[in-house]
Amino acid sequence: MPFLPDRGGPASRRPVAALRSGLSTRTAASRHGNCNKTVTFRSTERFETVDRLLPRLQRVATTEFEAVPAVAGDATARAGTIVMKFGGTSVGDPEKLKDVAARIVAAHAEGTRVVAVLSAMGDTTDELVRLAYEISPRPEPRELDMLISVGERISCALAAMAIHDLGDEAISLTGSQAGIVTDTVHGKAKIVDVRARRIHEALDQDKVVLVAGFQGVSTSLDITTLGRGGSDTTAVALAAALAASHCEIYTDVAGVFSADPRIVPNARKLHAVSYDEMLELSASGAKVLQLRSVEVARNYGVKLHVRSTFSDDDGTWVTEEDERMLEKAIISGVAHTFDEAVYRVQSVDRADLFAALAEAGVNVDTIIQTGDEIVFSAPLGDRDDAQAALERASANCDYIEGLAKVSLIGAGMKSHPGIAARTFATLREIGVDARFIVTSPIKISFFVERGDAERTVLALHEAFELASTASEREHV
Ligand code: ASP
Ligand code: MG
Repeated sequence: MPFLPDRGGPASRRPVAALRSGLSTRTAASRHGNCNKTVTFRSTERFETVDRLLPRLQRVATTEFEAVPAVAGDATARAGTIVMKFGGTSVGDPEKLKDVAARIVAAHAEGTRVVAVLSAMGDTTDELVRLAYEISPRPEPRELDMLISVGERISCALAAMAIHDLGDEAISLTGSQAGIVTDTVHGKAKIVDVRARRIHEALDQDKVVLVAGFQGVSTSLDITTLGRGGSDTTAVALAAALAASHCEIYTDVAGVFSADPRIVPNARKLHAVSYDEMLELSASGAKVLQLRSVEVARNYGVKLHVRSTFSDDDGTWVTEEDERMLEKAIISGVAHTFDEAVYRVQSVDRADLFAALAEAGVNVDTIIQTGDEIVFSAPLGDRDDAQAALERASANCDYIEGLAKVSLIGAGMKSHPGIAARTFATLREIGVDARFIVTSPIKISFFVERGDAERTVLALHEAFELASTASEREHV
């Protein structure tokens, strides 16, 4: 039994990732209305006031990551297993699905035991969510999961048909049939166990196994989903459970980049990043991997290869930190996100506040306290839950809109002084004000006005010469 039940405390029950807007399984906000007397959420105009009240360089906080269930040895693991995961754009239409089937068959032909995890085709999940909200303003969480889990099943059934046509045997499985057991939190369930017997049996019969990503069956036997982007986590958990040699994440980009190429045209594809860097990148806005999947990969030492479906080129390897990585590049990348909300709360007991937020499943990131004022950030997708929790804790609160979080990430920061100095000198040069600065040993993050985010990312990418091939790392 590779995954044991999550034995962590409340922290381990925090959600996997922010749900994109429209997919919230909580109904509290609608019940309470947007705000009541106790909680006043004000908007951007108030920001200047808030900002003046807060010192610039605050107490340092680190990003916390979720606890991951402990793993037990898998006696049934077989050598030569590979997990290949294909994202929504990779299986976006029937032609692409057939290409993916061919790629899977080619890997199988090399004698590999292949488990493929597929996402829903194109925008299927978004469309299903939209459909649910056309029917009901507050879709029942259990039924919403029943509905949105079908996209991945469609992809897998179609891929199995295509693989048959290519002459291989294949079997598609739902998450539940594949033995993915989760907790009972609809919309952002966590995998607590993988019972891979059926997968092993099919692999032993030389079949290609297709597993519907993003879903499982809860300990109370309901269908659950793992949060948006959750197929990554399905794939990595399976790779851990099957003791696969590595997990290939096929996507529509060539790998993990030093910054978002839409903002920084000369952003460089990174050859290798450490688990810790990837965790910080995912937590800071890089969308290429679901945060939870990186946590699982790190905890079980699953090597990831993030690469393009549409080319044979190598992508980015996510692995254990290696000294050769740090020789070449101190900084890996600059990430940014517009998806984080900042809250400023007064006169509330700290323990009560964070207990209420944890109970509501709000994934708190930055936390800064000065006097009796607490500033914290949380994913925008958790906003309804956060509001309801703040009401329950009777907190006085400002909600600060219009900010972006920019993060500079690199494992080499641990051992190289002067990174903060260069960061803030760069910001001064371009006249951008950084607020709510927090650091970890390998990250400096801060919030800027939304409109300043792009030039901040560009300037930092330039200042740290991240486009230069001199900082290219060896493959590990
Ligand atoms: N189809 C789901 C989503 O859109 C899961 C995934 O693609 O990973 O989030
Ligand atoms: Mg994804």
